[in-house]
Amino acid sequence: MRDIKDDVDNIIVSEEEITKKVSELGRILTEDYKDKQLLCIGVLKGALMFIADLVRAIPLPLQVDFMAVSSYGSATRSSGIVRILKDLDEDISGKHILIVEDILDTGLTLNYLIKNLKSRQPASLEICSLLVKKDKQTSGIDPKYVGFTIPDMFVVGYGLDYDENYRNLKFVGELKKEILGS
Ligand code: 5GP
Repeated sequence: MRDIKDDVDNIIVSEEEITKKVSELGRILTEDYKDKQLLCIGVLKGALMFIADLVRAIPLPLQVDFMAVSSYGSATRSSGIVRILKDLDEDISGKHILIVEDILDTGLTLNYLIKNLKSRQPASLEICSLLVKKDKQTSGIDPKYVGFTIPDMFVVGYGLDYDENYRNLKFVGELKKEILGS
């Protein structure tokens, strides 16, 4: 049996750290949105695990929707040219929107999404990103809610893929060089 954990060199954020952080963010978000109509928008596919855990840490009436976008580029870099593959099911005007993202790298994808969603007149729009890469130019995006700041490296796991694999790892890690090179 091939265990995908064997393809990982370093664990960057452990399963325990993720669990603790998700409850902490859940507590903060519960307080911030206690009197508001909250709609959490997950950006597929990377935010899949994060949004599933996060909304269960917020014991408020809330709604969940998804967008799927593809940002053109190589397997490990985005280009900023974004195409909407799946749009929201519902109208967001007057609602308090929380975009739930896996990782903020160049910020190009989110920059596009924010502009697009703001044009639909939500009552408010904030970002919750599990990971943010340190010292990167994130297109001026400053997420209000951040899980972890990580070094500028390519990571996989907990929703994040390499060539559509490794999303099912329970932690965030760095792949072995020989896997990325192959
Ligand atoms: P950005 O537009 O901020 O450069 O990148 C946004 C998207 O690129 C993320 O939502 C994610 O899908 C992908 N991405 C950026 N950095 C990484 C990374 O380190 N690992 C993986 N697996 N995907 C990444």
